[in-house]
Amino acid sequence: MFPKATWSMPDTGFKRLYLTFDDGPQPKVTEYTLGVLDEFNAKATFFCVGANIERYPDIFQQVKEHGHSVGNHTFNHADGWKYSWLDYQASIDKCQELTQSTLFRPPYGKLTYPKYRKLTKRFRVIMWDVLTYDFDQELDLEQAWENIVKHTRDGSIIVMHDSVKSIKNLKILLPRILEHYSKRGFQFCSL
Ligand SMILES: [Zn+2]
Repeated sequence: MFPKATWSMPDTGFKRLYLTFDDGPQPKVTEYTLGVLDEFNAKATFFCVGANIERYPDIFQQVKEHGHSVGNHTFNHADGWKYSWLDYQASIDKCQELTQSTLFRPPYGKLTYPKYRKLTKRFRVIMWDVLTYDFDQELDLEQAWENIVKHTRDGSIIVMHDSVKSIKNLKILLPRILEHYSKRGFQFCSL
């Protein structure tokens, strides 16, 4: 549907994985995430919501200081199916003043094709090929883990969330991913 969007990175044979964290920055959750990533010498990409950057500028600063990439996730987590282009663009512009990034991820993964076309002129639109479902309050962690292992390959882009809703699952799944794939020679890189 979105041919030029990035769903995964090329399989280079270098065993690289791309962890992405949406919806932060968020006190405690983002700080937790930064700590675990550091333990494994992992770099990642944070798709931030502009309103949260305004609320927590210090945490946003920490994300960048730890050497991670940041991307635009709109100012107010705008729904690309419901917003007019003008409103959607305004939300992106307002976030862009804070993120100044070439990377964009649509909230909920929702975009219309005309919006998508316009966005590709300005951004690398980053989707994913591995969903962790860390936001799901009823998540069966073993099933989620099986799903991650089944879909993750060299070059995969994995979606997680540094949000209050996800912290419970994040604390189980993130260290497990980092440990499992580090042991197998994978490197975690930012986009
Ligand atoms: Zn989001």
